[in-house]
Formats: sequence, C-alpha cells, structure tokens
Amino acid sequence: MHEMAMADSILKAVIENAENNQAIEVIDVVVEFGQLALLNPEQVKFMLDVLSEDTIAKGAKFIIESIPIEIKCKKCSFEGTIDGSSLDHYAPIVKCPKCDAYPVDVLNGKDVIVKKISIEKED
Ligand SMILES: [Zn+2]
Repeated sequence: MHEMAMADSILKAVIENAENNQAIEVIDVVVEFGQLALLNPEQVKFMLDVLSEDTIAKGAKFIIESIPIEIKCKKCSFEGTIDGSSLDHYAPIVKCPKCDAYPVDVLNGKDVIVKKISIEKED
C-alpha cells in the first residue's frame, strides 16, 4: 500500500500550501510522476480523490504527469530517455535501448513531485 502513503503525503503538502496561501478552495494539482516511482499512478490518483473528500482539496482535480525514465548505460555510455509506459509498475526492468545491457544508471524518473497547485482565494 505504498500508494496510500504517497497519496497521503501529496495531500498533506497540498493542504499545507493551500492554507499558507489563505485558499478557500483547491482547483487543481499537477503531480509529476516518475515512470520508475514503483507506484501505480492511477491508484494514487484514485486515493487522492478519496482522501481529499473532507479537506480543503475536496473536488480538486489531480493531474498526473508522467515523467520519462532517463538513463545512462554503464556499458556503452548511452545517455537518454526511455519509454517506461509498458514497464511493470512494481518490478520494472530497465535496459539500455542501444546495447540491451543491464544494469544502467537511472538519472531521472524515480521521483514523485507536486509541481503546481492552483487555488481559489477569498476576495
Ligand atoms: Zn548500452
């Protein structure tokens, strides 16, 4: 249930930000989701909808932006992004697209970041 913990910490950050800015409503929240975050983004989104029910973020739109995986191959030095959309969420196997080597260094794509929060303020 890592998704629940992640949804919970995202929501806490959103609520804290909204309260610090005297928000009366949260309109939408953009969450950057690394394709190697080892979480199911759809489940996190669902839990955000459920957990936000009794908070200031009730009814907010949670937008998940998928962040591609950036790697550097240890064998052939290939550096670039690979499409992780078809990988298993929980046990992704990342290989070099050029020489098929494994393992590779993952430079980007592991993190989940709250990128943008849009709020409504009282006039
Ligand atoms: Zn390679």
